[in-house]
Order: sequence, then structure tokens, then C-alpha cells
Amino acid sequence: MVDVHGVHKSFGPLEVLRGVDLRVRAGEVTVILGPSGSGKSTLLRTINHLEKVNRGWISIDGELIGYRRSGNKLHELKEKDVLKQRTHIGFVFQNFNLFPHLTVLDNLVEAPVSALRRPRKEAEETARRLLERVGLADKAGAYPRQLSGGQQQRVAIARALALEPKVLLFDEPTSALDPELVGEVLDVIKDLARTGTTMIVVTHEIGFAREVADTVVFMDDGVVVEQGPPAAVLDAPRHERTRAFLSKVL
Ligand code: ATP
Ligand code: MG
Repeated sequence: MVDVHGVHKSFGPLEVLRGVDLRVRAGEVTVILGPSGSGKSTLLRTINHLEKVNRGWISIDGELIGYRRSGNKLHELKEKDVLKQRTHIGFVFQNFNLFPHLTVLDNLVEAPVSALRRPRKEAEETARRLLERVGLADKAGAYPRQLSGGQQQRVAIARALALEPKVLLFDEPTSALDPELVGEVLDVIKDLARTGTTMIVVTHEIGFAREVADTVVFMDDGVVVEQGPPAAVLDAPRHERTRAFLSKVL
């Protein structure tokens, strides 16, 4: 369902993605591991066209992201069509990125009303259901600054879900949290995994990868070095670079 094909991305002379291929099947969880600077965030950002690829393509459910094909040429989509595609791709950042001036409920209602033209009442009902799901039903009227980091991140996940995304992308969702708050956020992501949400999660939480991932992908220096089931990649890595990385983070 998510198909990343031969993706290259450079910033000036710096080649950050050097031919990345990745397939994520519907309902599956892919965890991406790799050292700092290996291109993990850049890869996630190309998936929702926050970064334009220099070569290769990305599709979700068969639909090209950021481009349309005519004949054998690719034409870039107009900004409004890119925004429309992006509404189907949930993105959860390290630093929550909630709207600080909106209540928790309004954080969840804003995009469905403005981008999907959902009636406000319906969007509020969905928002309350999602807040319940992430264990924050009692925080609907609070402002982000009144919440702990773990609670803010759970709101950010609920907000991403409010757009009914085809896929959810997480970029180190727990790395800005105090250690005692990491578990509550991972529990929410685990719950989503159990109910078949398609997810790509960049994280350094190896225990989480082992427990939740269908596929673990190890990236280094802009390429996928190896990928496979957690037991293979984490317990019996075939490449020296993977072994060296794991020996540092385990
Ligand atoms: P980390 O684990 O530290 O988050 P990462 O694997 O997510 O690392 P990226 O953020 O994708 O790595 O960055 C890969 C490389 O691309 C780095 O060398 C980074 O400095 C560079 N880079 C990323 N974004 C840009 C940009 N907008 N302009 C220039 N260089 C960039
Ligand atoms: Mg990163």
C-alpha cells in the first residue's frame, strides 16, 4: 500500500537518500532504525511530499504522491492537490506540534472541519471518541500547555487519526519525552497496531520494535541496509553495520 521506489534526495551536494526502496502492506507496522543523519526523517518527509524527491517515486494505494503521470512523464501536482493527499497521511512529530491557542478538542476538530468539510458536530463526536481511545476524554477542554508531554503526544496521535489517514508516520514520537512518559505513548501506538493501522515508525525503542513491528528496516547513510521481521534484523542481523548499530543501542 505504501510503495517507495528508488527514491533519491539531495540537499545541494549532500546526497541524503541514495536509492531507497520500501513496501509497507496495509495493516502492517514498519519500524525504521538507523544512526543520526542516516536519512530517516528525510524519508518520512518525502512520503508526504514535504520534501520533493530528485529521483524515484512514492505511491499510496496506487496513487502517486506529489505527481501525476501522463504518458511516461511525471507532472508535479498543484499545491492544493498535494494538501489533499497529505490529509490522508498522518504525521506525528517528535515535538507534538499542537496548536497552542486551541483546546485539545479544537486541535482535533480543526482539520476535519477545514480540510474535509466535516460538519462541526460530527467532527466533535469523532474527536471525543478518539480522545477516549487515547485515554484523555477528560482533557477535551484543556490547552496543550496544561498537559504533560506524554498527554500532548497522545493528543497529537488522536489529531492525526481524526483525518482517518491511510497511513500514520511517526518521527521519533517518544524521544522528547521524560522516560516515565514514554510507555503511555508507546501503549497508544501498540493499541493502534493491534487494530490494524498502517504505520511507519522511526524510533530508537528497540523493545517496541521487537514487540510491535511486522518489519524492521535498518537504514544507514541513505540506503536500506537490511530489512525483515524483528527476529531476523534484531537478533540475527546479516550486516556488520546493523550489528555495530545494535550493539550501541541495545
Ligand atoms: P536523526 O536520527 O538525527 O533524526 P535522521 O536519520 O532523521 O537523523 P535526517 O534528518 O533525514 O537524518 O538528515 C539526513 C541528513 O540530511 C543530515 O546530514 C542532515 O543534516 C541533512 N538534512 C536534512 N534536512 C536538510 C535540509 N532541509 N537541508 C540541508 N540538509 C538537510
Ligand atoms: Mg530524524
